[in-house]
Amino acid sequence: MEENQKQCYKCNDDMLRIAGVQRESIVDGPGIRYVVFTQGCPHHCPGCHNPETHDYSAGKLVSIKDLENDIKKNPLIRGVTISGGEPFEQAKVVNKLIDDLKSEKPYDFMVYTGYKFENLVSNANEQNGYLDLLNNTDILMDGRFVESLKNENTIFRGSTNQRAIECKESLETGNIKLHEF
Ligand code: SF4
Repeated sequence: MEENQKQCYKCNDDMLRIAGVQRESIVDGPGIRYVVFTQGCPHHCPGCHNPETHDYSAGKLVSIKDLENDIKKNPLIRGVTISGGEPFEQAKVVNKLIDDLKSEKPYDFMVYTGYKFENLVSNANEQNGYLDLLNNTDILMDGRFVESLKNENTIFRGSTNQRAIECKESLETGNIKLHEF
């Protein structure tokens, strides 16, 4: 876990800094999904496909209300994927977005992270909001992208070290349960 995480988003709980969105995707999780690409990433994985998402001051700030309205417009959307960048850098705002959407429709939520599940759990505190976001995530795709483990046939992930984790059950039992797509 990086010691010097940027804290630049914490001043406004209703605004998310994003690199962009994909309004209909079938490659970022099961079914037709809306994808939010958050802006800002501390991991700098060699070979990253989205290097433009690393800069914490790039991208744009959007209100989560506007994002919610955009997601709700499309009745075909079954789930929402939060990708990056590093979504856990803005865990509290991402969690609020998920909370609000859950109150409207039973979407499922998949969150990508360069952190490992165990590290997020052990570093969780009230200030960073990691645990709330983990509790609200159905599938967590964890781990950095490792270029030497890249495999185009590995569904929904960039490299074979990344794990699709059933987040709630793993938190409840303390044992990581992998999700089968
Ligand atoms: S965690 Fe994702 S966005 Fe960040 S450097 Fe790694 S592959 Fe790129």
